[in-house]
Amino acid sequence: MSTLNETHDPSLKSWVESANREDSDFPIQNLPFGIFRRRGTAEAWRGGVAIGDQIVDLAAAHAAGVFEGEAAAAAQACGDSSLNRFMALGPAAWSALRLALSRVLRQGAAQAGALRACLVPQAEAEYSVPAKIGDYADFYTSIHHATNIGRQFRPDNPLMPNYKWIPIGYHGRSSSIIVSGRDFHRPKGQTLPPGATAPVFGPSKKMDIELELAVFIGTGNELGHPIPLTDADAHVFGLTLLNDWSARDIQPWEYQPLGPFLSKNFASTVSPWIVTLEALAPYRVAPPTRPADDPQPLPYLDSPANRAEGALDIQLEVLLQTGRMRQAGDAPTRLTATSYRHAYWTLGQMVAHHTANGCNLQPGDMLGTGTLSGPTLDQACALIELTVGGKNPVTLPNGEQRTFLDDGDRIVLRGWCEKPGAARIGFGECAATVLPALA
Ligand code: MN
Repeated sequence: MSTLNETHDPSLKSWVESANREDSDFPIQNLPFGIFRRRGTAEAWRGGVAIGDQIVDLAAAHAAGVFEGEAAAAAQACGDSSLNRFMALGPAAWSALRLALSRVLRQGAAQAGALRACLVPQAEAEYSVPAKIGDYADFYTSIHHATNIGRQFRPDNPLMPNYKWIPIGYHGRSSSIIVSGRDFHRPKGQTLPPGATAPVFGPSKKMDIELELAVFIGTGNELGHPIPLTDADAHVFGLTLLNDWSARDIQPWEYQPLGPFLSKNFASTVSPWIVTLEALAPYRVAPPTRPADDPQPLPYLDSPANRAEGALDIQLEVLLQTGRMRQAGDAPTRLTATSYRHAYWTLGQMVAHHTANGCNLQPGDMLGTGTLSGPTLDQACALIELTVGGKNPVTLPNGEQRTFLDDGDRIVLRGWCEKPGAARIGFGECAATVLPALA
């Protein structure tokens, strides 16, 4: 499951000097995949790999003859405008290309000269959503988020009785998944004002964030044939950061009885670089131990490997920069921080559950983890939790206060992994600004 190989060796250095900086998200041990082109050009979108502050243009590298065999075939597939064809090739192809990239990017590599001509500075690049996402489902895997939210809606019964048995999720919308850096307008919708008996239509007054991770499916499954938990990881290509923007005043009026709809599907932002599950292998950990009086997972959601190392220790944080802060030149300020390791359900359990009825996943499908709030309130990953439903505003360093987001507020998500004996790897950032509602 968490097989380490030479690509994870923390002593590896790259001839791309910026990759060797201690604070780089993209050292040679990471090698995340994305879709890019030079900003402001009509160049074709194509696949690349982040290394330091550069991008390896995989189609160009393939054309330059840098790769051989299975890695060459994989790099050729990355010349498309989405990663779907590469994802569909499966784990052996992903690993072959990762290993080849690791070797040609190492200090002293004979191919350095040829590959140097295939680098594009990240500062000159723009990004697309890295996969053509056919379907998107959003889960609810943090029991702390589910409890915090549930307490606001149902003080006596915060956690629904199904929560500890079933990885709860709903089908989301793919067309409005956008890439980091693309701003969006505050949504309008129906809301029921406090005390009112009829709804009003207008801009949302309770714009919120949800810090999540997005799990990208590599290889799918045939309709009718579930993916067993023991095979789930082999179907997962990798992860990005995900901000599941939420309109908290539209949500309560519309969500019963069929679940979230327009409160969620106006924009969902992903970071451009997919960090592969292979790159994350050093950061496998055991999921939280379930209390003895909690139900244990049903057999299809349980395996020794999942119990031993089904979770991932990914550090996560949310930063806010208001319009006033930006004008004053103030850096974004941290609102909250947590780790993915606290999730009640693992990504393997998400995949196994999603397909348990025979539902077919396809290359490029995206599964949201749900808001990844940690065990304490200062690790909550949505403003509705941090401010206890808007009752306790957050005070920022410049004295401004927020319950929900104002127009001009910019939210930045960051994620990274670090521990002694392994290279620190990061996700880059997932950022967007809330623009005023359109007239
Ligand atoms: Mn969500």
